[in-house]
Amino acid sequence: MNTVTEHAAIAAADAQQASTYNASDVTLRARLIEAGILIDTGEDGLYGRSQVFEDVIDRLNHAITLLGADQEAEVLRFPPAMRRHDFEDSEYLKSFPDLAGTIHSFQGNDRGHHRLLEALEKTVSVGEEERTDEWMDQQKPTRLVLTPAACYPIYPTIAKRGALAEDGATVDVFAYCFRHEPSIDPGRMQMFRMREYVRLGSPQQVMDFRQKWIERGSLLVNLLGLPFEIDLANDPFFGRGGKIVADSQRAQQLKFELLIPVATPDRPTACLSFNYHMEHFGEIWKIAQANGELAHTACVGFGMERTTLALFRHHGLDVKAWPAEVRDFLWGDTHSRISAGLEALS
Ligand code: ATP
Ligand code: ZN
Repeated sequence: MNTVTEHAAIAAADAQQASTYNASDVTLRARLIEAGILIDTGEDGLYGRSQVFEDVIDRLNHAITLLGADQEAEVLRFPPAMRRHDFEDSEYLKSFPDLAGTIHSFQGNDRGHHRLLEALEKTVSVGEEERTDEWMDQQKPTRLVLTPAACYPIYPTIAKRGALAEDGATVDVFAYCFRHEPSIDPGRMQMFRMREYVRLGSPQQVMDFRQKWIERGSLLVNLLGLPFEIDLANDPFFGRGGKIVADSQRAQQLKFELLIPVATPDRPTACLSFNYHMEHFGEIWKIAQANGELAHTACVGFGMERTTLALFRHHGLDVKAWPAEVRDFLWGDTHSRISAGLEALS
């Protein structure tokens, strides 16, 4: 090999290394798929989950239950869809029209069915790339949409019960959520699970709740042996006006996130979030406090997949080789470790 080609080879290797680093989100994704921990469906952000992945999710979920046991939260579970009418009222489309997912279905007659099958025939007979969505012209909106955040079905539900009790209400929710944000970053999925505690009450009650959960969320992530930081954040509001809304959300310190380096080392990922909605949902659904004033609300959201991915990223793909402390916390003495941690906080 002469010096010129040698140099070229080194330069090429360097470039490859640099691009490997920059594309480290692809790398973690590829490693998880290769190990069978996540199952590639062929669509970005849509994965199957293996038993090992689900086992970690279950243990994490259990730890979150123990962490909130003293809250005496009402457990409510909803399917990953909500009433379209409630969704319309929620104003989600004002802020995140690009993320929403609606559910459509065939509601036609025999002629419509014929047209659908003709269009389908055309599209399946061509290659993946040339497929069209013409058959979907026969689909009509249903009265359901996909849930964008686990807490959304809660507000209309609680509102129907009338005014809150003196000490407000606390709800425990868990659901698959949908957001149309296809990405090769495994931490940015289109369907993922969110566990949340939701607090409804006076401004003081919900602010105390949020502060408590910033501390408890940090405790959990410490027990998981993961590096993190808490930071002020904003939601990805859509459009030209979005920046102004995001700035105002920051100025009012309405959203904090717990960030962990996951797939992109230079850009840590929000794995937990702590949101204060002020009277936004109280006003939309006319949720009243015991004294008749509008209820304020807050929620803490645990990104189940993101936190699980963070564990694989930092402790390795073999759960049996995870640090003993972490293994003991998840599969051993979860209860006493959480009790001790909560004691230290109080
Ligand atoms: P991001 O800013 O990264 O889009 P977010 O802060 O807007 O996320 P929230 O609306 O606060 O997310 O959702 C609550 C939690 O759900 C987040 O803290 C995160 O852990 C998780 N989450 C949000 N979007 C996704 C996604 N696309 N894939 C996986 N988990 C997600
Ligand atoms: Zn929420």
